[in-house]
Amino acid sequence: MGSSKYFTLKEARLSNNCPECYSNDGLEITFKQKLTENIFYKAITSETTLQMHCYSCNTTIFPVRWTDDIERVVEYQQRAVQPRPKSIKLKPLAWAFIFFDLLIVTAVILYATGVISFS
Ligand SMILES: [Zn+2]
Repeated sequence: MGSSKYFTLKEARLSNNCPECYSNDGLEITFKQKLTENIFYKAITSETTLQMHCYSCNTTIFPVRWTDDIERVVEYQQRAVQPRPKSIKLKPLAWAFIFFDLLIVTAVILYATGVISFS
C-alpha cells in the first residue's frame, strides 16, 4: 500500500538529430529519481531513471532508437547528474505509532517490576 513517484533531477536539451523526425532542436532528456511513499514515511531511493522526448514530433525516444551520437551525449549528461542522497522522512502517524509502542513497553515494564498493578 505504498506508491512510487519520480521527481525531476535535471532536464537538458540535446542538439542531436531526432531518430524519428531528424529535427535537431526537439530532443530533450529528463533525469528522474525515485521516491517511495506510504502512510508512515517518505523516502528518496538511489534509483534514477531517464527519459528522452522529442518536442518536434512529440515522440518518446526509447533507448533502442538511440544512435551512437545520442548514446555518447546521454553518457556525458549522466555523469553530470548529481542524484540526491538517500533519505527517509517519517510522517506524524509513524511518530504516533512509535510513541504508542513506547507507552505500552513502559507500562509492561512497570507492571512486571511491580511498580503498578491492576488488582
Ligand atoms: Zn522528432
